[in-house]
Amino acid sequence: MSLLSLVQNSLKGIKLPISGASFSPEQFDAHVMTTYGRFPLTLKRGQGCRVWDDRDREYLDFVAGIATCCLGHAHPAMVEAVSKQIQTLHHVSNLYYIPEQGALAHWLVEHSCCDRAFFCNSGAEANEGAIKLARKYAHTQRGINNPLIITAKASFHGRTLATVTATGQPKYQKNFDPLMPGFAYVPYNDLAALESLVAELDAETPQVAAIMLEALQGEGGVCPGEAAYFQRIRQLCDEKGILLILDEVQVGMGRTGTLWGFENLGIEPDIFTSAKGLGGGIPIGALLCKAFCAVFEPGDHASTFGGNPFACKVGLTVCETLESENLLGNVKLRGEQLRFGLQRLVQQYPTLLEQVRGWGLINGLVLQPDSAVKSVDIVKAAMDEGLLLVPAGPQVVRFVPPLNVSADEVHQALMAVEKALAIATKN
Ligand SMILES: *Cc1c(COP(=O)(O)O)cnc(C)c1O
Repeated sequence: MSLLSLVQNSLKGIKLPISGASFSPEQFDAHVMTTYGRFPLTLKRGQGCRVWDDRDREYLDFVAGIATCCLGHAHPAMVEAVSKQIQTLHHVSNLYYIPEQGALAHWLVEHSCCDRAFFCNSGAEANEGAIKLARKYAHTQRGINNPLIITAKASFHGRTLATVTATGQPKYQKNFDPLMPGFAYVPYNDLAALESLVAELDAETPQVAAIMLEALQGEGGVCPGEAAYFQRIRQLCDEKGILLILDEVQVGMGRTGTLWGFENLGIEPDIFTSAKGLGGGIPIGALLCKAFCAVFEPGDHASTFGGNPFACKVGLTVCETLESENLLGNVKLRGEQLRFGLQRLVQQYPTLLEQVRGWGLINGLVLQPDSAVKSVDIVKAAMDEGLLLVPAGPQVVRFVPPLNVSADEVHQALMAVEKALAIATKN
């Protein structure tokens, strides 16, 4: 019996409003916490780069679950991996050896500068692990009693208390104080600011345990890091024994046209984290580090679900499909095509649009700072034109399609954006 028919059978006789149409936003919000501002759209199924709503209207999905569904929807390799693994063994515990976990760790180590992996379930959880690892390294290897981690303003590292503290955006922290001690912030891509903060903090005794950055700031507005900035940070970290942590949660796993975002900057981190694309839409997170800072010992850190056979098999399938379908090559070509088309729209709408920025298939269409039209207005207009997009702050419309998006789909998306801009500027 197939998985689907099993589920359908088990639902027989139970009256559930499982068709989206029977769920009004009011009914939904009566029982689900209102943590999200949702668009009035209910999605029911997906195939490739397309999804369908509860009225069977088709959309091109340039959100991909916010840069997670890197192989699109219902990819045959994902369907097979998920179905086979759930029938074989889906979860045990890290009390035992898990071959799928070992295989995924092996792949990630073989394809990065790091030597050891720890698995968890989300980006925030991976970053929590990185923060703990850096603190333990500072305590045990450098004798720092009050380790500090420097992060960037406009960064995003997650919603747990430590990661929301690491996130350099007050809007995410408001009303959740007291925040976690041990963080300091600098403007992104500003070398002088970073050098003077490190000098100030380390003036008497060393305190700076780590510098934690995104190679390209995703949520903060699709803002690429500058190579010279990161290369100087790498030197500074080497000189002082400071750990360089890169949050690769959004840009890792091929999104930028290289496997890891930091490859665009010509540097290697000591520690990096991955999540979003790693499971192709199935929850998994990973923390990787070089051997010299792999200081966790049994009992130091754990996650009940982390690294289970199911999530790791899916992660491995994503990794192997990136290679077998040469998706990095596709990301580069489709990214160029998309930026070229968006650039033409910037020229067409100079009072509304400022620029296009991004790498590979993470791109932002940046609005003029004084524009009355906001990113969400364009996202809504695009939705009416059958294209899903996601804001990255009020000023930037983000494009993060599946990594196997076709030339034709990029072309269609560009036509929909053009129509959406015409409508958004008329209103
Ligand atoms: C999304 C994101 C996170 C948080 O990931 P979750 O899985 O939502 O916890 C952390 N860092 C970056 C750069 C992200 O884009």
